Amino acid sequence: MNHLATFQARSILALGLSNALALGCAGQPEERAETQEIIDNLQQAGFPADDITVVDDTVYVGRDAVVSLEASREMLEAAGTSQEQYRTNNTISTALIKICVSGPGFTGVFSTALDLAIQNYDELPLTFTMARAPSSGCNFTINAVIDPNMNGGVAGFPSGGLPYGTITIGGQLAQYGVDTIEHVITHELGHTIGFRHSDYYNRAISCGIGGNEGDAGVGAILIPDTPSTAVVGGSIMNSCFQASETGELTSTDLVALRTMYSAPRHLPASSTNWGWGNVSNVRLGAGDNVASVAAGASVSLSSNFFIDAGLGGCPGCISQIVFGVSGSGSKQCIYSGAGVVNSSAATTLTAPTTPGTYYIWAAPQWQYTCNDALNNTFTGAAVGVLEVYADPLSWGWGNVSNVTINGKPNNRRVRVAPGGSLSLTESYYVNAGLAGCPGCISQIVSGIEDGSKACVYNGVGIASGATGATLTAPTQPGVYKIWSASSWQFNCNDALALSNNGAATSYVEVDSCGHDKCAAGGALSAGCDHQCVADICAADSYCCNNSWDAQCVSEVATVCHQGC
Ligand SMILES: [Zn+2]
Repeated sequence: MNHLATFQARSILALGLSNALALGCAGQPEERAETQEIIDNLQQAGFPADDITVVDDTVYVGRDAVVSLEASREMLEAAGTSQEQYRTNNTISTALIKICVSGPGFTGVFSTALDLAIQNYDELPLTFTMARAPSSGCNFTINAVIDPNMNGGVAGFPSGGLPYGTITIGGQLAQYGVDTIEHVITHELGHTIGFRHSDYYNRAISCGIGGNEGDAGVGAILIPDTPSTAVVGGSIMNSCFQASETGELTSTDLVALRTMYSAPRHLPASSTNWGWGNVSNVRLGAGDNVASVAAGASVSLSSNFFIDAGLGGCPGCISQIVFGVSGSGSKQCIYSGAGVVNSSAATTLTAPTTPGTYYIWAAPQWQYTCNDALNNTFTGAAVGVLEVYADPLSWGWGNVSNVTINGKPNNRRVRVAPGGSLSLTESYYVNAGLAGCPGCISQIVSGIEDGSKACVYNGVGIASGATGATLTAPTQPGVYKIWSASSWQFNCNDALALSNNGAATSYVEVDSCGHDKCAAGGALSAGCDHQCVADICAADSYCCNNSWDAQCVSEVATVCHQGC
């Protein structure tokens, strides 16, 4: 055991654990048997013995990650996966929609930091949202506790599809300020959903000292599209933190989260309330709070808002409201002023240049000016979704463009019933010679995320034209990307087998409304088609209580400001 050797200024997570070590005591005999099995399983799975620590009958690896008996057993079962921003073999179930974090002992900067850390995970449309307890509809609750003697954090890995249930945060972190505490909490929450240390293979990268936490083909899977090598400041999941951290997820952390738990299966409401104010009726472009736009495009946003700084105990405060796009620097301040205000405002945001799904967030501030508010606001509560597609999607020696789904162009979302089929058409151009391989057999594969895929082109030479396929939609309601990928294989079957999850060229919405909101029929449920049906039923309850008649269809335009 060489934990004392890690007592370095930068080894703060290790410090915290080692302090806890001093409190270790013997447990009950049956607990010891369980502890021994976990240790045996870990060693069999390839973790070096000196990286396994036992404190109060709790087993840790990598200094701050608790391993439960189930998790250690699952590591053995999963042996044989590839070695290589890293995750455990176990992730959390996509059936978990809302994970709550209960931190009744978190006050002052710790409370602020906990809120900010939770917000980090709500920056992106994931299969789950996080919220501070108490909150309604929690599928799982992580208990956050403060250990006044600790100077770091401790958490564990998921098992059985559930997050690890406890994070422990060191009370001595108060000396570093709110951003560094936010960093440590975000890091520990990352472990609970399956993130391993980005420099697990060489802790010296972030700690200045230390070796390999152990991989051995179990529990350290490289997350696609993230770097396999770590640098200081490169990830919130570095083993050790610095005294000064931003607390924010890095660009590769966002990619890792999106890759592991992507997609807005659960669309956010078009409003958020922070006690002394709120925004509501957030709309993007001419539609509701969900929009599909081309990479880098301008996005107009409008919102109602209410401000009463007095409700927050600061009646004279100058208040601001900032809107932004997750995973990008685009943000705008739509209001700055004092007093009680009930109004609306509009602004323009810029879509990211990388295709993908992003949240629109809103956050309040108390600063002197809009500029100060912008400089101090990096994320907020999700109030909308931006689906960014590439048109054309180019790969150097070819492209696809002008994607239409069921005859509708790619700047419009198209509704498809769960598991239903959809008709894709698109234009393509290939010229393998541009990449120095004029004789190569080229393929284009297009598909729907979590749905089916099809080889839409196979040939040699220079070619262009229109192509298409019939695809099968996923069975879970949500918004999914339509993607394309290119390859040089011998035939379509080989290309199909190798192509998955390419870049987005369009989006499609799978919903459970029963019928299109643009067609008359039975009453719709307010929750079935994100905001529009809910808005119409709020204005005209007949549509959800009795039937969706022609009047309801006309309200798609007058209430939702959408075309049919
Ligand atoms: Zn850690």
